[in-house]
Parts: sequence; structure tokens; C-alpha cells
Amino acid sequence: MRNLALFDIDKTLLVGSHFHYLAMKQAVKNVYGLENPRPVPNLQGMTDLQVLYATLSQEGLNKETIDHGIDECMAEMVTYFRENVVKEHIICLDGVKDVLENLKQFGVPRGLVTGNLEPIAWLKLDRIGIRDYFGFGGFGNESADRSLLVRHAVERAVAIYGTFNKENVFVVGDTPRDVLAGQKNGVKTVAVATGDFTVEELEATGADFVLENFKDARRIQNIVSAMELDVNPEFSPIQQ
Ligand SMILES: [Mg+2]
Repeated sequence: MRNLALFDIDKTLLVGSHFHYLAMKQAVKNVYGLENPRPVPNLQGMTDLQVLYATLSQEGLNKETIDHGIDECMAEMVTYFRENVVKEHIICLDGVKDVLENLKQFGVPRGLVTGNLEPIAWLKLDRIGIRDYFGFGGFGNESADRSLLVRHAVERAVAIYGTFNKENVFVVGDTPRDVLAGQKNGVKTVAVATGDFTVEELEATGADFVLENFKDARRIQNIVSAMELDVNPEFSPIQQ
């Protein structure tokens, strides 16, 4: 059985990035001259491009004005983040490395579906030593529509590994928007309650699987069964 696992980053694999937000703030100031734009409500699971458009239109900028500066704005974000990433105190969430190592051992390709701009995504993963588990993805600079990021990630996986059946593609994230993006693509969805949403809230999205966290061995076993992985039926954590 050929499976594909696609992971969100923030509050799914890691927590504690502070400079991502500051990078956006600085870039919006430099490019559009806006000091302290109002925060966008309910932005969990939005892509960076989506957050930028929402932030700027909320401040009264029209689409043409936003479009004109958007590439420069994203580039400024990346520059700022790159310069400050060394100061980040990012924490890899419990169980993440075990899950990634197990998937690797099972030969399950691993990709990203993240709202992060691509360079920022790789810098964050590099910072906590899990970059090498991932080879491709769909990223927040590519669309304001998260479901298109899933599509991009799957297309990239297909180009590398060949075709996957939709029932063997697992999108993993911590928000209802992650689940919806997977559902729009007709793939399996795994929601993990390590972010701002509870197990109950995530269950209400209709996600195929909901986990407390990546130490939730009993529920992880259900996913292992769905993947028909039989090399290591216990899915026993690999000690790092
Ligand atoms: Mg997230």
C-alpha cells in the first residue's frame, strides 16, 4: 500500500515561533507603510498570503495596491525571518520525531502543507532538526486558498513517487482549515489537538482521524491500520 503523509507545521509539528509574526509586521511596515495593522481575527490555518491580503484590505488598501507590493512584502518577510531565526525558541512537539521516524522506516513519503512562506517553512524545520524528513510540499506563498496547497503538494509527490490513491493520502493539521483543505481534495484528514482547537471541536469538522497529540498511541494505531502498515504493527516509538 502506497501512502503519502502531508503535514502542517505550526502547532502540528512545532510551537513557539515568534519571529514569523514580527517578520510580517516589519514587511508590512516597510512595503506598505503601515504601522501596527490590526490583527486578523481567527487566522488559524490561513496561508501567509491569505493573512497578508486580509491584514492589508482590513486597513483599507485595495487589491491593486496590495498586488503591487505583495512579492516584495513576502521577500522582506523571508529576509527578516532569516536574520532572526537564530533567536527563535521553537519547540518540536512531543512524539513528532517518533512519528516522522516511523513513517520514514515504513517508507511513507512525507511532505508539507503549510501556510508558511516556503523559505520560512524550511528554516523553522531546520531549526529543530526535522527538515530532512521532508522533501516537498505546498506553501503559503503559493495561494491564499489552502486547498490548492494540498493539490500542489500531491502533484509534487506524484512527480517524485508516482500516483497515489486519494484514500492513501493523509493531510495532518491542527485546525478546521487544515481538515477542510484535505476534504476539498477528497483525501484523508488527520486533526491533532495540539493547537487552538480541542478534540471535540476537531471531531465536529468531520476529520477522518482526531488525535490528542502525537503521543496518542491508541488513536495513532487507527491510522496505522488505515495505512495498512504491517512492518511494525505496534508503531512503537523509536528512541531518539
Ligand atoms: Mg497549524
